[in-house]
Amino acid sequence: MSKIVRIGNLEVGGKNPVRIKGMLKSPLADTKKVIGEAKRLEIEGVEAIRIAVKEEKDVKIAAILKKHISLPLAADVHFHPFLALRCIKEGFDQIRLNPLNIAKRSEVRKIAQEAKRNNVSIRVGVNSGGFKKQFSSPQSLARQMVKKTEDYLKVLEGEGFSDIMVSLKGSDVLSTVIANRIFSQRFDYPLHLGITASGPFLQGVIKSSLGLGMLLSEGIGNIIRVSLTASSFWEVRAAKYILQFLNLRKFGPEIISCPTCSRCEVKLINIVGRFERELEKTNFNKPLRIALMGCIVNGPGEAKQADIGAAFGKRKAVIFRKDKILGYSNEKNIVNDLLREVR
Ligand code: SF4
Repeated sequence: MSKIVRIGNLEVGGKNPVRIKGMLKSPLADTKKVIGEAKRLEIEGVEAIRIAVKEEKDVKIAAILKKHISLPLAADVHFHPFLALRCIKEGFDQIRLNPLNIAKRSEVRKIAQEAKRNNVSIRVGVNSGGFKKQFSSPQSLARQMVKKTEDYLKVLEGEGFSDIMVSLKGSDVLSTVIANRIFSQRFDYPLHLGITASGPFLQGVIKSSLGLGMLLSEGIGNIIRVSLTASSFWEVRAAKYILQFLNLRKFGPEIISCPTCSRCEVKLINIVGRFERELEKTNFNKPLRIALMGCIVNGPGEAKQADIGAAFGKRKAVIFRKDKILGYSNEKNIVNDLLREVR
């Protein structure tokens, strides 16, 4: 089991549930937008927020955000050690350092000393994109990511610093999985998992689900951040689904619906889409399993195994709660009838 390391007051690692981190995408100059995005992620359930700090004026965002949200903040710093020091002073709870671009030992030591003095943790984050050379295989990239991290840890540990988390992210599933497996066998620092630059929405969701899913199902990983070329809200939603569908955490209702086939005699794809949108509007957050099935082949079975379910026949649907038939509905009314039962 990993040790526990904090980001502000958030414990990560040990027996704590796997945490969710999000990252802001709004330009920091647009304070209103930044606050709005952070609040939206907080409502969605994110537990720590990372912010890219590019230049000195960016460091002020920590104090501004802390007036509006109560989440710990991590600063993502690259290339400039002095920015890391400024972030520590300005109230960030964690600093992410990239060993591939802040590498000078004397500078890393100085950051470790200041972080220790101010109770700020450090995430050592190596990404495949930071390497200049090409690797012949996911295995060799993974080994290099681990090696770079190990060397960096020695410098931090040399300062008596151990409030460390680690991330080893490739833009492909295999290098990420291999690197994290190797690292977790050698160290007990909490692991922040993610696939970097994972791609557009569907590709990114699949890569993240595969990579994070494989590792989490092996008990590896303590905090996750899903990266998508999409809004930060969807990254957090995807992270919640990954954890919920692995039975690691529970956040809200799950819809079980069939893919439909030529047996289906209703417009199930439209019905499920409508039901999902309407359910979202209710802000219902209990972990119910709600089934919507297209015909009597698998429909009644799945519907009965869910907490609430409906199985369609020819236009008509039977509504179940566990084993009990609650009543009947039809294509037009099924969304409202199911929502009533959910409530
Ligand atoms: S439940 Fe029925 S309609 Fe849906 S995929 Fe299975 S056989 Fe087809």
